[in-house]
Amino acid sequence: MNFVTFRTPADSTPRLGAVVNESVVTLPGDMINLCSKGVPGFAAAAEMAAAMPVADHQPLTAVELLPVVPRPGKIICLGLNYADHATEGGNSKPEYPSFFMRSPSSLTAHGAPIKRPRVSTKLDFEAELAVIIGKTSRHLTPVNALEAVAGYSCFNDGTLRDYQRKTAQWTIGKNFDETGSFGPWLVPASTLPAGAAGLKIESRLNGTVMQSSNTAHMLFSVKETLCLITEAITLDPGDVIIMGTPAGVGYARTPAVWMKAGDTIEIEIEGIGILSNRIEDEA
Ligand code: MG
Repeated sequence: MNFVTFRTPADSTPRLGAVVNESVVTLPGDMINLCSKGVPGFAAAAEMAAAMPVADHQPLTAVELLPVVPRPGKIICLGLNYADHATEGGNSKPEYPSFFMRSPSSLTAHGAPIKRPRVSTKLDFEAELAVIIGKTSRHLTPVNALEAVAGYSCFNDGTLRDYQRKTAQWTIGKNFDETGSFGPWLVPASTLPAGAAGLKIESRLNGTVMQSSNTAHMLFSVKETLCLITEAITLDPGDVIIMGTPAGVGYARTPAVWMKAGDTIEIEIEGIGILSNRIEDEA
């Protein structure tokens, strides 16, 4: 069973939900709380959702999904984590991941718009695997690292390429409001292969395949990444790690492809789902 954060026209408070047969069932607590309870927590939540009368189900199409974790304490991203994408940007395989951070204000959700800002037309897509943390963790090892993972989702690391390259720091180009899409839902780690390895990952712009690869091609695996991050940083429940994107992004094409108002961008990861957004110009 998969889990969402959502709200409705009648109730603006973000709620935790379980997805049951194309419907959403409201559960107590929030996503970070659920993630912190581990495998038994997901089992109990699934049991509670399955027991809810059908009258308490709301169609998925009738609710507004929010970012899976609406306000993660930390969003830590990897740049250049697929060999083919590093090569298309003229970069060689790194000895250490290019970590950078996004802020919660840059997030948007499945079904909500991705905003093309007033100041740039160079809006690019990046299909990525999102890792959602369930345990407070420091100094993880290859033996226990994956126990820290609550679940996985899709992410579109929407980037303003000209702002990314204004300086050596990518921060601004990666943090425009409502450019990083996160969803549609959390898939519990126990239902996917270890480290979400070996899953097809794809992006489609207006139905045309732009990126098509496999999470097996990541240079730094989820396990290795968690070990490296927690050498330095304590991870907490609800923190999110964004695992980098394969080749085929817009800037590296000839001619370059930029997303514009009215476009639809989809990120699909095998076994997780499809994250879909329309592009809108900032008002
Ligand atoms: Mg990226």
